Amino acid sequence: MKIGVYPGTFDPITNGHLDIIKRAYQLFDKLYIVVPQNIGKNALFTTEERVNLIKAVLVDYPDIEVIATDKLTVEFAKSVNAVAMIRGLRIVSDFDYELQLATINKKLDSTIETVFIMSSHEYSFLSSSSVKEIAKFKRDVSIFVPEVVNEALKEK
Ligand code: ADP
Repeated sequence: MKIGVYPGTFDPITNGHLDIIKRAYQLFDKLYIVVPQNIGKNALFTTEERVNLIKAVLVDYPDIEVIATDKLTVEFAKSVNAVAMIRGLRIVSDFDYELQLATINKKLDSTIETVFIMSSHEYSFLSSSSVKEIAKFKRDVSIFVPEVVNEALKEK
């Protein structure tokens, strides 16, 4: 059984994240979507809200578990016997940060790989922060996020 872990802030989950999740789902028998209890990150949604939004979006995927953790992501991955962590790559500017992260994680636990999935071209421009920025101006973001997220953004 191949287990994968997709960690991220998901503040909030976008169609770009969802695309990565659906494609990763084809590669692994079980997926964990992991939201670290990040101190220091200025999130719009609380960890619990972010987890609940992801759960609502993935209600039809029984082999995907959504969970918040205060463990280091590699430690979480180890604890569920994952073989890999999944990250999405959009534009070239993602590469620097992702390479750093993957290299550090490999140092922390050499048994866990980082698998990169390239963004589909229609989502390569899409980020949670741009969605929040547009929503702040009360513009419609329904083409960028699932409907539950659109509603949650309107409420915020
Ligand atoms: P983090 O703070 O961990 O980068 P994010 O929620 O911003 O959390 O992103 C989680 C992962 O999803 C990262 O690897 C990021 O590059 C990837 N990602 C975010 N948006 C997209 C997108 N539109 N297409 C593909 N990958 C994406």
